[in-house]
Amino acid sequence: MTLAAYTPRSLPEFLNGLFRLALDLRWTWHHGSDELWRALDEETWDSTHNAWLVLNSVSGERLEELEQDPLFQQRYLEQLAAHHKFVNANTWYSEDCAGDLGQGIAYFCMEYGISESLPLYSGGLGVLAGDYLKAASDLGLPVTAVGLLFQQGYFRQAISTDGEQMEFYPYNDPTMLPVSPLRDEDDQWVRVVVPFPGRNVRLRAWKAQVGRCELLLLDSNDPRNEPGDRGITSELYTGDPEKRLQQEMVLGIGGWRLLRQLGRQPGLCHLNEGHCALALIERAFGWQEDHQSDFQTARTATRATNLFTTHTSVAAGFDHFSGSLLRLYLAPWLEGRDLNADQLLELGSERAMTGADSADQRLNMALLALNMSGRINGVSRIHQKVSQTLFQPFFRRWPIEDIPADFVTNGVHTPSWDSPESDAIWTRACGQDRWCRPLPMSCPMTAITDEELWEMRRLQRNRLIGYLRRRLSSQHCEQNPANNHAAACGLLLDHETLTLGFARRFTEYKRPDLLLKDQERLLRLLASRDRPLQIVLAGKAHPYDHRGKEIIRRWKAFSRRPDVEGKVVFIEDYDLGVANQLIQGVDVWLNCPRHPWEACGTSGMKVLVNGGLNLSQYDGWWAEAWNADVGWAIRPGATFEELRSTSEHDLSDARELFDLLEHEVIPGFYDVDEQGLPRKWLQQIRASMDQLTAAY
Ligand SMILES: *Cc1c(COP(=O)(O)O)cnc(C)c1O
Repeated sequence: MTLAAYTPRSLPEFLNGLFRLALDLRWTWHHGSDELWRALDEETWDSTHNAWLVLNSVSGERLEELEQDPLFQQRYLEQLAAHHKFVNANTWYSEDCAGDLGQGIAYFCMEYGISESLPLYSGGLGVLAGDYLKAASDLGLPVTAVGLLFQQGYFRQAISTDGEQMEFYPYNDPTMLPVSPLRDEDDQWVRVVVPFPGRNVRLRAWKAQVGRCELLLLDSNDPRNEPGDRGITSELYTGDPEKRLQQEMVLGIGGWRLLRQLGRQPGLCHLNEGHCALALIERAFGWQEDHQSDFQTARTATRATNLFTTHTSVAAGFDHFSGSLLRLYLAPWLEGRDLNADQLLELGSERAMTGADSADQRLNMALLALNMSGRINGVSRIHQKVSQTLFQPFFRRWPIEDIPADFVTNGVHTPSWDSPESDAIWTRACGQDRWCRPLPMSCPMTAITDEELWEMRRLQRNRLIGYLRRRLSSQHCEQNPANNHAAACGLLLDHETLTLGFARRFTEYKRPDLLLKDQERLLRLLASRDRPLQIVLAGKAHPYDHRGKEIIRRWKAFSRRPDVEGKVVFIEDYDLGVANQLIQGVDVWLNCPRHPWEACGTSGMKVLVNGGLNLSQYDGWWAEAWNADVGWAIRPGATFEELRSTSEHDLSDARELFDLLEHEVIPGFYDVDEQGLPRKWLQQIRASMDQLTAAY
C-alpha cells in the first residue's frame, strides 16, 4: 500500500489550517470550532460529529464559497489562532512540575472512548481511558497513549420490533476516522513488526491527536499480512482466546516496540487493565538491550516505574491463556532471550490459586502485570478491598490489608460532559479555565440564583426531550403499526416531568431490571397525575450475554404496555454521543449494581456538572461521594462481607429503591414554592455540584 492511498483531499491554500483543526480531537470537548464544521456540511456534522469526515466530504463548490465568505474567514482565523495559542500555552505541568516525569508516561489500554466518531471502545474502561487522556492534555502531562485501531470495534445495536437485540459490525474506514498515518522523520509511514509462529505480523501505526497528547494506534490490516492476520485488529473483545492473545501481543509487544522505534523513552509505563501486560516484558527486554543485562536485572530496574490499574471485581474477569497456546505463540518472540515461556508463565501463574500442576498451567494477565509492576491500584476504596481479596491467593501468608493494592478513584473529564448551559453557569461562578488545574475542592455557586439554576435544568431537560424524539424517530418509532405512534415517537414525553435516566451495559450484576421487580409499583409512579415520572433507558448487552438480552426484551415489552403510554423510552445503540445527551438532561441518574461488583462506575459522575442528582447503590465511587445532602444511596453503609443470597439481596434493594423514589425523590422534585421553584431540590443540586464536581 502506498502513502498516496491515505493522502487527504486538497483544499484551497487559505483553508489548509482546517486539516490541523479537524485532526485535533480537542473538538470533542472544546466546541469553539463547531460552527466551522456546521458551515462546511451541516448534515454530516450533525449526524456524525466527525470533523475529519466533514472536511473530507464537503464539496469543492462549498469550499470555494466559504473561502470568499467574510464571516467564515473571520471565524476560521480566530479558531486557528486559538488553536495555536492552546498548543503553545503554559499548563499546570509546564509551570508547576516541569520535568518531573522525565520523558513522560506511556499509557496502554485495549480500548479508548474519545468520541463516538472514533468507535474504538466498548464501555467504561475505554471511556475512562479517553477522559484520562483529555484531562492529561488539559494539565499538560506528557502522556503518550497506545492502543489498537479496530476495523470494526465493538458491535452497534438495534432492537427488533419484538425486543430482540440485533448486532452490526460496520467497517471503520480509517480514511473516515479522525486519525492520520503516523509518519517518521523521513515522512515514512511507521510500521512495526511482531514475530508470530512461522511469520512476522506487520502493523501499521496511526496517530490520533487528543489535544496536547497523542494516541498511537496499531492495526494489522496490512495487505502484506496473511489474510487471517489482517483481521487480528478487527473486533474488540471477541470470545476467541487465540484472537485475544494475538491482539494482546500486538498491543503489548507491538505497542512498546512502536515507542522504541520512535525513539521515545517514557519514564513511566501505566497499564489500564491487564490486557496489555506483555508491554512490561517487552519494556524489560528493551532495557536489557540498552544496558546489556539479564532479564531479572531488567525486571527489577523497570518494575518500580510500572503502574498497573485493575478494574476487575471477580476472579473470572481476569484475562487468562492456556500454557499450550502461550508456548505456541510466544516462542518466536522469546527465542534467544533469557526468559523462556515457562518462566514467563511462572510470572503470571494461577497455580497458587488453583493448586493445579504445571500441565494445565494458565497465564493470568493481571497477575503478570502485578508481578511486573511497582504499584497496583484498584479504582475505588471498596474496590481496593475487593482487589486485595482477589489477590489474596497469591500472597498467601500476608494479612489481607497488607496486600499491596492501593486505590485511586476514577474521575471524568468534566469539560467533555458539561452542557452549554452549565458551562455558562460554571464560567460565571468559577472562571474560564477552571478545569485545567487541580481545583480547589470547593467552588460554591453563591453568585448564581435559584431561578438561574432551575432555568438551566429546564433548558437541559427540554433539549434532552427534543433529542429523544429525534432519536426515536430515526429508530422509526419501532415501525410497528400496532403501536401507539405518539408514544413510540416520544411525543408523550413531558418537559416538566421528573426524568430518570439509566444507561449502561445490560448485564446481570448491573441489575438494569431492578425497577422491573415490582411492575405494579413502577406503573403507579409513572401514571401519577400530579407527580409523574418518566424514564429513559439505553444500553447494550454483550452478544453472548443472553440474560442481558432478556432484560432488554423485558423493558421493551414493559414500555409497550398501553398503560405506560410513552413514559418509558429505550434509546438504541448506547455510545458516547447518546451518553452525552442523557447525562445533560436527566434530573436523576440511577445506578443499582449488585454490591460490591461495581469497581467504580463513572456515568453518575457525568451528571454532576450539569446539576443532575445521583440515586445509586452504595458502591464504587458513590460509597465515597455520598452524603444525605448530595443525593440518595441504596443501602448506605453496606459492606460486602454481609452479602447474603443474591435474590434476597435484589428484592430488598428493589424495595429500598422504590421507597426512596416514592418518599424522597419524587416528592422532593415536585415540592415547589409560590415562585414554582423546588427550593430543597435546588439545595441538593448546589451541594452536589459544589462538593462533588471538582473531586470527580
Ligand atoms: C460513562 C460511560 C460508560 C461507563 O459508565 P458506568 O457507569 O461505569 O457503567 C459506559 N459507556 C458509555 C458510552 C459511557 O459514556
